[in-house]
Amino acid sequence: TQIMSRGLPKQKPIEGVKQVIVVASGKGGVGKSTTAVNLALALAANDSSKAIGLLDVDVYGPSVPKMMNLKGNPELSQIVFLCYCCSMSMGFLVEESEPVVWRGLMVMSAIEKLLRQVDWGQLDYLVVDMPPGTGDVQLSVSQNIPITGAVIVSTPQDIALMDAHKGAEMFRRVHVPVLGLVQNMSVFQCPKCKHKTHIFGADGARKLAQTLGLEVLGDIPLHLNIREASDTGQPIVFSQPESDEAKAYLRIAVEV
Ligand code: ADP
Repeated sequence: TQIMSRGLPKQKPIEGVKQVIVVASGKGGVGKSTTAVNLALALAANDSSKAIGLLDVDVYGPSVPKMMNLKGNPELSQIVFLCYCCSMSMGFLVEESEPVVWRGLMVMSAIEKLLRQVDWGQLDYLVVDMPPGTGDVQLSVSQNIPITGAVIVSTPQDIALMDAHKGAEMFRRVHVPVLGLVQNMSVFQCPKCKHKTHIFGADGARKLAQTLGLEVLGDIPLHLNIREASDTGQPIVFSQPESDEAKAYLRIAVEV
C-alpha cells in the first residue's frame, strides 16, 4: 500500500504495441491461462487484420508454451509465431522442469526484460497472462506499462470469487480499468444424458460483477474438449473454432 499511495511512476508504452489487455485471477487453477491463450487467438480470429501478441508473465508457473505446443529457447528478442498470434513466455527462459526460485528483485528484473527486450514489431493487442494473485508481478507490470484494461477470470466458487474481488480492487488502486469478469467452469453438461451440473456454483461471478459494478464478459463451460485442447497444445479456438466452447471465447473477444 505504501508504494501505491506514492502514486505510479511514469509508465512507458511497449514500442509498437497499441493496446495491452492483462488477464488475471485471484486464485490459481481457475482457467486464467486457458482464457488468455484462447482470448488472444479469438482476437486474431475475429479480425484477421489485427496483429495480436501473447505475453506470459506467470513467472512461477508459465503455461503458455505447453498450451500452444511451443518448444525451444528463443532469444528474448525473438517472438514465436503460431496460430496467427506471436508469443513470448517466461517459460522459454527457464527449463521446463526447473522451479523458479527467485526473490522479488530477480522477478522484477525478469519482468522488466520481458516487457522491454521483446521485439513485437507492430501489435494491435498484446494479451498478458499474469500470475494469480496480487503480488510483485502485477504491481510491476501495472507500474511499467500503460494497460488498456484487465480481464479477471474466476470460477463461480466463493473462495475463488473472494480473491477475484481482491484482484479487481488491486487494479482499481493502480488505476487499471477492469474490463469485466469471465466466469469459467460455470456449468458441466453430461455428454451422455445432457444433464447440466453447476459443479462450482451457478452464477457467483455474475453476482460479484453486480456488486462491483462490472460487466460479465462471458461464461465458459467446464468441458473436456477445452482441457484436452490445451493439454495437447492445440487451443480450442484454433483447433475447433466451430465448437460451442470456442464460440464462448470468440464472444468474449468481441466484448473486450
Ligand atoms: P490458471 O491459469 O488459472 O492457473 P489454467 O488455465 O492453467 O488455470 O487451467 C487449469 C486447468 O484447468 C488446466 O488443465 C486447463 O486445461 C483446465 N481448464 C481451464 N478452463 C477449463 C474449462 N473451461 N473446461 C475444462 N478445463 C478447463
